[in-house]
Amino acid sequence: MFEDRANKRTELSELGEFGLINHLTKDVFINHPETIRGIGDDAAVIEPSGKQMLVTCDLLVEGVHFDLTYTPLKHLGYKAAVVNISDIAAMNGIPKQLVIGIAVSNRFSVEAIDEIYAGIMLACERYKVDLVGGDTTSSRSGLFISVTAIGEAEPDKVVYRNTAKENNLVCVTGDLGGAYAGLLLLEREKKTYEANPEMQPELEGYDYALERQLKPEARMDVVLKLREAGIVPTAMIDISDGLASEILHICNDSKMGAVIYEEKIPIDAVVAGIAEEFHIEPVVAALNGGEDYELLFTVDINDFEKISAIPGISIIGHITEEATGVNMMSNSGSLITIRAQGWDHYRNTEE
Ligand code: ADP
Ligand code: MG
Repeated sequence: MFEDRANKRTELSELGEFGLINHLTKDVFINHPETIRGIGDDAAVIEPSGKQMLVTCDLLVEGVHFDLTYTPLKHLGYKAAVVNISDIAAMNGIPKQLVIGIAVSNRFSVEAIDEIYAGIMLACERYKVDLVGGDTTSSRSGLFISVTAIGEAEPDKVVYRNTAKENNLVCVTGDLGGAYAGLLLLEREKKTYEANPEMQPELEGYDYALERQLKPEARMDVVLKLREAGIVPTAMIDISDGLASEILHICNDSKMGAVIYEEKIPIDAVVAGIAEEFHIEPVVAALNGGEDYELLFTVDINDFEKISAIPGISIIGHITEEATGVNMMSNSGSLITIRAQGWDHYRNTEE
């Protein structure tokens, strides 16, 4: 749908496991002096820096977490790396190393795996992360990608989910609902294509939402800006499952309540337009859509001026005592209880 697939097809069996590993990792570049040894031995060697180490892992399964009919493989590799880097960002840390496990069936060619790695390597370059190892194996069917990211932060800079305090400001980066709007468009195109393969995709003018879905970014830029401004959030989480689910995580784990204001929730005009096209209220896309990978965090009210001075951050509400619950003040002035309706991969499947 997006790119001409390479015409050449090299079977995985032509390279074998070791040939494939060598082929995929030949251009790997090490950025950090803490990476003593990367790929090539039984284990990578990392020099502890005296900071605290952050470790996170995500397993992506074809047909559950991604759909190859509309996900270009390079984007898939990029996104797989970025979502893990986003988890390090959400701890207020700096990502340093990545470990990749990949299982592929012989339906995939060497060129296809190359595309996935091109995406992974692009993310490594952009976020200055060292690819230090992994595992490569075959699968009976389908593609599996497991990514582990390793990062670091000074002990007093690590930010948890369960430490929001009453009267803290609730802040969010960027805008929300875009990735979900992109998914709606891609699913619609897929259905149209399945019904009639002659149909040309109608995706012009939708670039922003498609990019939000297919090529998300981790907000490391914000982590660095907060550092520069001398702000340590009191609690933080990245928005992978929608604003509703994430604010509930922070509040439930912190034993607090919150009020957020519908009018303050940042939604791009293009995204709002797409939501309306699908008869969905834009705020619902922000609350219940997923995969925006923006940061949701709380700060002390004394940081109000400093936070306001950073572009691209919206203050959407404040933390209250637990008994108040977690609510949204709607544009019409009614208080609505927030419930989680994030992605639930198990909800509609037999697994
Ligand atoms: P082992 O038998 O010890 O598991 P492998 O032959 O699987 O070693 O891997 C050899 C080296 O290549 C190791 O350093 C491993 O971390 C690295 N490696 C294997 N697969 C990948 C991959 N998909 N991406 C990055 N590095 C990999
Ligand atoms: Mg191995």
